[in-house]
Amino acid sequence: MHITADFAAAVGKTPLIRLNRLSEETGCEILGKAEFMNPGGSVKDRAALWIVREHEKSGALQTGGTVVEGTAGNTGIGLAHICNARGYPCVIYMPDNQSPEKVEILKTLGAEVRVVPTVPYRDEMNYQKQAGRFAAGLDNGVWANQFDNTANRLAHYESTGPEIWRQTGGGVDAFVSSVGTGGTLAGVAAFLKERKADVRTVLADCMGSALYSYVTTGEAVMSEGPSITEGIGNSRVTDNLNGAPVDDAVQVTDQQMVTLVYRLLREEGWFFGSSTGLNLYAAAEVAKDMGPGHTVVTMLCDGGGKYQSRLFNREWLAEKGLNPD
Ligand code: PMP
Repeated sequence: MHITADFAAAVGKTPLIRLNRLSEETGCEILGKAEFMNPGGSVKDRAALWIVREHEKSGALQTGGTVVEGTAGNTGIGLAHICNARGYPCVIYMPDNQSPEKVEILKTLGAEVRVVPTVPYRDEMNYQKQAGRFAAGLDNGVWANQFDNTANRLAHYESTGPEIWRQTGGGVDAFVSSVGTGGTLAGVAAFLKERKADVRTVLADCMGSALYSYVTTGEAVMSEGPSITEGIGNSRVTDNLNGAPVDDAVQVTDQQMVTLVYRLLREEGWFFGSSTGLNLYAAAEVAKDMGPGHTVVTMLCDGGGKYQSRLFNREWLAEKGLNPD
């Protein structure tokens, strides 16, 4: 018998799926880690679980304590599920530029959602800083702090990285990942490099982010944006990303991402979110650069359902000057 015990036990162990068209076009194996199959629906279930466990282990989070986070959505969704399973109230601060679907899901899951104006990180009213201040004022409460709490990258070092290693039989040549907090890229890259020093690790960046510049020049300078992608891109180097063994970066435009997301939907039946489209575009670029015969792994971060009113809404795309055809 193989029975999964509960919500937490259902996190991770996701399939590694071959993207057939991209593989054929590049002569490489383009493989995607099916994070949309996590029980909360995204890659962030892993970080949410590791962060809650860390706060439990340290004693900072006691029975009935409140978990607070500032999140673009998916971390909040993962936390809300785990909080319900463990009896913790959950308070989520979210910038007001995110898809309404994510707000609705969080409310359905019972989280208290505080949508706040979108302002830069340096502003004291930034959603992450508001979350930190609110948590600091609670007697029994913690700030998950996914950006700078390295339990996030540890989740990927301890789970995602080893899974990719096993699933490819050690045959992975490159790992490509977009970055929001950097937990995924930093954790997986660190694990894979320890096993195989010449694994190529590549940061896939959206426009309106400073991370392409950070990897290629050492200085975090914002590129021209904004981007319609959600959950990725950053103006700063977080504690999770800091020191990560990253070899290279690829920049992907919204139109390149949109074209690929719709192609995968029509041609192969995949219904992916924007960061997944961006990851796959970048993975194909890396594959072309490396030449045929290589195995390139990336993340299928979440599904398209949460982006119905935006990425999968033709009128909304047209307003942004983007063409799905
Ligand atoms: N894709 C999606 C859809 C996300 O929500 C996130 C996290 N914000 C990422 C990618 C990036 O993952 P990480 O935070 O580990 O860099």
